[in-house]
Order: sequence, then C-alpha cells, then structure tokens
Amino acid sequence: MEASEVGTLTELREALGECTRCPLHKGRTNIVFGMGDENAELLFVGEAPGRAEDAQGLPFVGPAGRLLDELLMGIGIRREQVYIANVVKCRPPGNRDPVPYEMDTCNPFLLGQIRIIKPRILCALGRVAASLILDKNVQMNKVHGQKFPGHGYFFVPVFHPAAALRTPSTRGVLVEDFNLLKGYLGEEERPPEPPAPEPEQMGLF
Ligand code: URA
Repeated sequence: MEASEVGTLTELREALGECTRCPLHKGRTNIVFGMGDENAELLFVGEAPGRAEDAQGLPFVGPAGRLLDELLMGIGIRREQVYIANVVKCRPPGNRDPVPYEMDTCNPFLLGQIRIIKPRILCALGRVAASLILDKNVQMNKVHGQKFPGHGYFFVPVFHPAAALRTPSTRGVLVEDFNLLKGYLGEEERPPEPPAPEPEQMGLF
C-alpha cells in the first residue's frame, strides 16, 4: 500500500519495508522509523539518524538524544509521551546533511507520520527539518521558538540539540524555547483544521 493510504504507524512502517528507494540504504545498519506515542500532541522531527541511532534503530539515542531527554524532563514531559521522527530514516554517510533527493524520497513517510499522529505541535529540531517544513532556507536564529500555523498543527522550529553540544550558549536558548513549547501545549487554542485533501497538496506546510 502507498504511504498516503495507510491508517496506522504499523502499516506505514510495513509500507516502508526494507527500503531501497534512495542510496542511503547502502550504508545503513537499521532503518530508524521513529518512536513514541501514536497519539502524541507533540511531534519532534530531527534531521537524520547518527551512528548510535543507526546501530539501535531508534531516534535520538546518542548524545543529542540525551540532551533532548533532559530538555523534555525540564518541562515535565517524558519521551514516551511524544513522538520522535526524522526527515530521513537512514543514516547519511559520515553524518552529512541529507541531500534533496534523499529527503524527497523519504518525504511520503514523514507526511504519513504527521497525518496519522495529527500532532497539535510539530517541533522541528534544527535547520534541515525546519527548512524542509517551511519550504525555504531557514535561519534558525531568526525563527527559533516562534509558533507558525501549519496544516492542522502549529509549527515550532528550535535549534538542534547537537548544536547545543557544539556551542554551549545555544543550550540556554533551547531551554527557553522548550519552555515556550510547554506554554504552547497548554494553550486552549487549537491548530487550524487541515484543508480538504487535494492530490496536488502534498507539501508539509
Ligand atoms: N540527530 C538527528 O537529527 N536525529 C537523530 O535521530 C539523532 C541525531
């Protein structure tokens, strides 16, 4: 079945199969599909699996993942309560950024995850995910922590936790942005309803 037709994450994972749609499959150990609550209000989208994620088949289980867990704990949320996915499901060689062809090829599966989970808030972790979702080159220092209305969800870009591991001053910015996220989650306001699906409306935003 097509990614756009399935109704559950289990079916979506089955539709992905042992994917060979793009060259990233050649270097992977495990597909990192995503993990967490299928009914989560908060969906995180990172960039791509790294070494630890590729080895375990789970997202954000390396050093950046430990910081993500800390940031979540700081706002009273456990990892099991959210869903964590990535723009591409296989590790790029040497942790390079995924290229457009790889992102486009994986996109139906990310769109499927968003459609099935129906989050209230989609939080992009880092520039690569934020640029894909906003469909333009994003400068994180201009947009981080802001809430943008999307198709059925609010979109909030934040710095990638790995950036805070490289640049310690970014950690404080992330802590502030996670506090904003908590505030957004507590708001009564609902995201705008998704428009009636149209075949040509395949974008994320
Ligand atoms: N960085 C990402 O963007 N995703 C992961 O799953 C791990 C590290």
